[in-house]
Amino acid sequence: MNSGSPYVLQLNADYTPMKVLRWERAVELVLAEKAVTVQPFPQRFVRSSRLAVPWPAVIALRRYARTRGRVRFSSRSVIARDHYTCQYCGVRPRLGDGHPDRDQLTTDHVVPRAQARDGVVYLPWSKQWVNVTSWENCCAACRACNNRKADRTPLQANMPLRQYPRVPTQADVLRLALARVGVVPDEWRMYLPEGWDLFADCASDAPGARLLSVS
Ligand SMILES: [Zn+2]
Repeated sequence: MNSGSPYVLQLNADYTPMKVLRWERAVELVLAEKAVTVQPFPQRFVRSSRLAVPWPAVIALRRYARTRGRVRFSSRSVIARDHYTCQYCGVRPRLGDGHPDRDQLTTDHVVPRAQARDGVVYLPWSKQWVNVTSWENCCAACRACNNRKADRTPLQANMPLRQYPRVPTQADVLRLALARVGVVPDEWRMYLPEGWDLFADCASDAPGARLLSVS
């Protein structure tokens, strides 16, 4: 089978990595001359009755796109956004092979559901009302911290957050996409910024992680 990876890395016209897409969509963009293949999988071709084109590993848009990536909210994505790290004690549960042990992590409602009014909560640190289940009010927590915190805010429980939860940035969007793919093909690596190796990322200290006091 002369097939490559089912996933293709899409770069913007300036070669900034944007997102990960299915190969079918990538080939469509190349054939429509909206993108060019900048890195094919060697010796692999997408074949139809009429044509055979190099199987794309990395494509780049021909015209610069300003669109912002978005991630659908999910418990799994909250945990990936937080680098598979408990936002209270900093523990990073691992499996024997070094991959994150997602079963040991939960999603914590920072301001608990029990304190929500009509499904919204007030966040003192950003002075905003947000949905109780939202990017801004959910974080990764190990089971022990989640149980200990129970139906209390970080202040009530005296459990300061390492960082305030936030809507994922463009960099997070790509990191989450890489996390979904699991194994990053070698052909992508030179187009990804330094230190974006998925598991190196999980192993290193989360950049910007710092203790914050919640008032
Ligand atoms: Zn913890």
